[in-house]
Amino acid sequence: MSEQVVAPRIRGFISLTAHPEGCAANVRGQIEVARAAAEGAPALGPALVIGSSTGYGLASLLSACFGYGAPSVGVCLERPSEDDKPGSAGWYNLAEAHRIAAAEGRTLRTVNADAFSSEAKEQVAAELRAMRGQVELLVYSLAAPLRRDAATDEVWRSTLKPIGRDWTGKSIDLRRNRVTEATIEAANEDEIEATVKVMGGEDWAEWLRWLGAEGLLADNCRSVAYSYVGPEATHAIYRAGTIGRAKEDLEATARDLHAQLAPGGGGVWVSINKGIVTQASAAIPGVALYMSVLFAVMKAQGTHEGPIEQIARMMRDHLGPGVTPVTDDEGRIRLDDLEMTPEVQSEVARRMAAIDTDSLGELSDYAGWQRYFQQLFGFGLEGIDYDAPTEVHRLLV
Ligand code: NAD
Repeated sequence: MSEQVVAPRIRGFISLTAHPEGCAANVRGQIEVARAAAEGAPALGPALVIGSSTGYGLASLLSACFGYGAPSVGVCLERPSEDDKPGSAGWYNLAEAHRIAAAEGRTLRTVNADAFSSEAKEQVAAELRAMRGQVELLVYSLAAPLRRDAATDEVWRSTLKPIGRDWTGKSIDLRRNRVTEATIEAANEDEIEATVKVMGGEDWAEWLRWLGAEGLLADNCRSVAYSYVGPEATHAIYRAGTIGRAKEDLEATARDLHAQLAPGGGGVWVSINKGIVTQASAAIPGVALYMSVLFAVMKAQGTHEGPIEQIARMMRDHLGPGVTPVTDDEGRIRLDDLEMTPEVQSEVARRMAAIDTDSLGELSDYAGWQRYFQQLFGFGLEGIDYDAPTEVHRLLV
């Protein structure tokens, strides 16, 4: 037991602390949305989510487990609470998900280990065997800064850089809340290759191959990984940059693997998702500004969605039991359809061209972006008494 008052300590796109009760409230809110969206839907067999503790992966885990009743295993890399030392936000998210699952008699297990390691795969296999289950849904939602090769110990680091020439564009200085010009130098070939190694499709394919070889993949398994396309304003830094190269590799992997699972009634897809505030997306230069403007425009049009709304829609319309995925010409699921409408994008482009520090509040929802960012770490939520001590030592029961 260790009760403490936990205060926010946010530095740019890093938060040094996380509030256990705030994170728990976030998770309860997402579970409510997941349940409502899947009401009456048929149950899903075992689900495995790689990158299950925050962002799109957490939403996927909650949707599978609480919406579709899937016995679920998640893999993540989080800092547990230890003695009187607080844990990370992802840890607290999963502590609450585990608590509710246990209270409702649901099966939810977490493997807190490096997803690129063979130990993580062995632990997942043990959990699946204990469930006597074969995976029917595999969600690959890693956003990792680095990958250590399981065999050679070689380390690759992903970078967020343009390719071909340096990028200069509008960005938000998150420490000073100012619109600035940021410049990022172009990546070299090694950086491009390393980013593809970390964020491309190789490890996803390895998980599918390995589960198949272990007899842990259902014939009708559906697998999805997440990608992003986005508008012209972010192209140089995202889609045409190092991360975009990795996403092209991820999408090529899906096309290759799809043919292998399709005969059994399953399949492999990439879902192009909407931009949302997560630890991973906050680190991409220029993206916080674009998202702040995007949220203002989408909220005004009543089409704004967060991670759980996106994933609930993906399951309902594309990947839930008995539903046939609808894809674009390249075989991709498009959850970014509402973000990418010409009406939204032309208004976003107009505002992006005009925006500066003075007009930040008027032309964008930067205040909303900041609120979402704090909420990732359990801060700024209604109904939480932030002055009260809270138990920071929480277990994944
Ligand atoms: P996130 O930072 O919220 O989540 C990353 C997850 O990966 C966490 O669960 C973390 O614990 C886990 N992780 C990181 N390294 C790991 C490791 N070595 N081993 C095990 N687990 C590890 O990220 P997110 O924004 O939800 O991104 C998830 C995916 O969705 C990414 O592929 C991202 O490109 C994609 N995506 C994100 C957005 C967006 O706007 N955030 C939009 C479209 C697609």
